[in-house]
Amino acid sequence: MLKLKEVSKIYRDGIKALDGVDIEIKKGEFVVILGPSGAGKSTLLRCINRLIEPTHGRIYLNGEEITSLCGRKLHKMRQKIGMIFQQFNLVKRLSVLQNVLSGRLGDVSSLRSLFYSFPKKDVQLALECLDRVGLKSYAAKRADTLSGGQQQRVAIARALAQRPKVILADEPMASLDPRTAKVIMDLLKKINQEEKIIVIVNLHVVELAKEYADRIIGLTKGKVVFDGIPSLLDKHFKTIYYEEETRVVNADMIPVSSKAKRVWVLEAGKIAYARWQIGEGGDSVENQKSNVKNEREEN
Ligand code: ADP
Ligand code: MG
Repeated sequence: MLKLKEVSKIYRDGIKALDGVDIEIKKGEFVVILGPSGAGKSTLLRCINRLIEPTHGRIYLNGEEITSLCGRKLHKMRQKIGMIFQQFNLVKRLSVLQNVLSGRLGDVSSLRSLFYSFPKKDVQLALECLDRVGLKSYAAKRADTLSGGQQQRVAIARALAQRPKVILADEPMASLDPRTAKVIMDLLKKINQEEKIIVIVNLHVVELAKEYADRIIGLTKGKVVFDGIPSLLDKHFKTIYYEEETRVVNADMIPVSSKAKRVWVLEAGKIAYARWQIGEGGDSVENQKSNVKNEREEN
């Protein structure tokens, strides 16, 4: 189980990218973190594998606190967490197999010198991982000769070669066309089901989130504003995105989360949009409802 307790991140320039995030994710869950650009999605994933240090809060994986680890223990923990990036992050000039083997090392800088001395069983495992993403026959090819979709599959094989407990994917299909995007999501879903590992995918595409997620966590301005099954998202929220200039269509519903800064509400098949700021000096719900109502009448 992965547990985040009151995790906050304030960058040096004072930007609060995460604001008291509390999440528990069970073994085998396929979670999509959904939110607009700047919501804090990347920061959240990077805090989990400690590419970024949270300012406050704690993170635990299977009872072990990730946030207090350093040195060899941190390195070992990172091995349990596979990471997939939007830009694939392969070493372009190395072969596909070498890239996957780097998953075994967790450290590409020492890869070149060690490459010829990889244990046979690691090479075997890397080939198996490539087979699982359908790219075994590409093992000897240079990484940068592959298409974007293929490179992302290599990145998935590399994560698999770590034998991870968790896979974190940060907008893994943002650089791909829609059809290839689905191939990547299908693959992540298959791995999630076969390995019963936690998969967390950052997305800003609502449709993909609804199609694949067991659970969607909506993030807006560093706060969790939605946490539930995809069908609930459909019922209560058209989307967790907001634009200042969007007109209010309808806003008669109370937001589900009292922590929400801004909540979208869907009613009668229409997007109802509320500019509610709840708590932290924000207006009360009732006040804002009447403000929203007045605005609607003005329009
Ligand atoms: P998302 O992935 O949802 O687009 P990010 O986690 O990248 O969101 O960013 C959340 C907020 O933190 C944004 O306002 C962004 O500008 C800011 N931010 C991200 N990384 C840094 C950084 N290294 N230094 C300062 N601010 C950052
Ligand atoms: Mg991001």
